Amino acid sequence: MAKTTCAVVGGGPAGMILGLLLARGGVPVTVLEKHADFLRDFRGDTVHASTLTLLDELGLSAEFARLPHRLLEQLTFEPDVGSITISLDRLPGNHQHIAMVPQWDLLELLATAAEREPRFTLIRNAEVTSLLTEGDRVVGVRYRDRTQGPAAGEHELRADLTVGCDGRHSVVRAAAGMHTRSFGVPIDVWWFRLPRHDSDQTGVIGRISTGHMAAMFDRGDYWQCAYVIHKGSDVQLRAAGVEALRAEFGGLVPWTRDRLDALRSWDDVKLLDVKLDRVKRWSADGVLVIGDAAHAMSPVGGVGINLAVADAVATARLLAGPLRTGGAGPAQLTKVQRRRWWPTVVIQGGQRLVHRFVLAPRVNSDGRAQPRRRMQPSRLPLPMQLLGRFLLLRALPTRLLARLVARLIALSPLPEHAPQWARRTASTGSPMKLT
Ligand SMILES: Cc1cc2nc3c(=O)[nH]c(=O)nc-3n(C[C@H](O)[C@H](O)[C@H](O)COP(=O)(O)OP(=O)(O)OC[C@H]3O[C@@H](n4cnc5c(N)ncnc54)[C@H](O)[C@@H]3O)c2cc1C
Repeated sequence: MAKTTCAVVGGGPAGMILGLLLARGGVPVTVLEKHADFLRDFRGDTVHASTLTLLDELGLSAEFARLPHRLLEQLTFEPDVGSITISLDRLPGNHQHIAMVPQWDLLELLATAAEREPRFTLIRNAEVTSLLTEGDRVVGVRYRDRTQGPAAGEHELRADLTVGCDGRHSVVRAAAGMHTRSFGVPIDVWWFRLPRHDSDQTGVIGRISTGHMAAMFDRGDYWQCAYVIHKGSDVQLRAAGVEALRAEFGGLVPWTRDRLDALRSWDDVKLLDVKLDRVKRWSADGVLVIGDAAHAMSPVGGVGINLAVADAVATARLLAGPLRTGGAGPAQLTKVQRRRWWPTVVIQGGQRLVHRFVLAPRVNSDGRAQPRRRMQPSRLPLPMQLLGRFLLLRALPTRLLARLVARLIALSPLPEHAPQWARRTASTGSPMKLT
């Protein structure tokens, strides 16, 4: 049976960063990714200052700069009353912006960097189906090779540690019997493309008006559009025909009317099921979950990728040593949750506030306008309700609030830095000499 020290399930942002860092830390690591490539439409595109700084430290900034990307120096939201601009120009550090980069390009970059490390293996088309156990201990994974070639079929991979980085529908989490706490979410998202013209504005556009909300992400020759609907109203709204969506979207973003016929049928519109949850215990003997597998994130703030990356950096820093010297026991694994739990709670708390005070009042049960009706997406603890009212009733000056939000989103509550043994200089790719 094949053997590795660390089996990482899932080659998303969490899995690829963890694989790269552990390999640089001298730990044999195998990443199993169920798809053949990273070309998935639903992935977010926002790489924040905390992750850009990490890429600098890993010596990958020059390669990153060669990817097709755009830098956002401010975010503008256009709600029904006034407009809110969050400027990033006063962020500390080297990056006063958010980079918009297609996530598949970023993941390919990380895969290429990791494949330069002799201890790294990426197996594509490898769908993990269950965990291997000995007594109560997880000792690896069973996976299905989805190719048609000679390797097709069931395989087993033994590992000292298995890390589930397999996202919000984590197989590892379910197989390990980990319990999640779910928070109600008032929205789902329709996801579709519209052609982009050279004369269009660039970057990210957020639009909110009574009963309608959308965000548009500039991906060069097309706009990736997210249109917010009431949770669970997809089937009901589709019955009205795609013309209804064209009319509503054209009303919300009038300059797109000349290209809305690109939405020919509902086949062009994907439903993204928005979830917000958190696993109570992130680890058990021989197994750990991080990223969305430990805490599914709402799209609010576009922070999910960056939080998943920060989890991976903390995991590599805390566990590379123990893994090199004979395995990471339960006590070491719990250190990851202890480190990453509170920034997760802070970010999810912020997302719940936005759900409760900004989104829920604007979508009603038929997905359309009913601006002032209150919904209860989930019961917020009293301190959070008071905080929400305090902030959103503008007890804080808007500029100060905008600056606080910018810092929290761009830098994250607890940014994680690359351990010294994982750092490289950009030009040579060789380990960085630290003074
Ligand atoms: C509508 C929407 C929009 C969003 N927009 C943004 C945004 O703009 N910016 C942002 O930062 N965040 C955004 N997010 C959140 C973000 O997508 C996630 O938080 C982030 O991708 C989590 O990274 P991850 O590596 O933990 O998991 P994922 O990105 O979900 O990666 C999991 C990987 O595991 C693989 N996998 C799954 N199951 C298996 C299996 N059984 N075997 C092997 N491989 C498996 C998958 O193919 C995938 O590659 C958005 C979320 C939603 C719902």
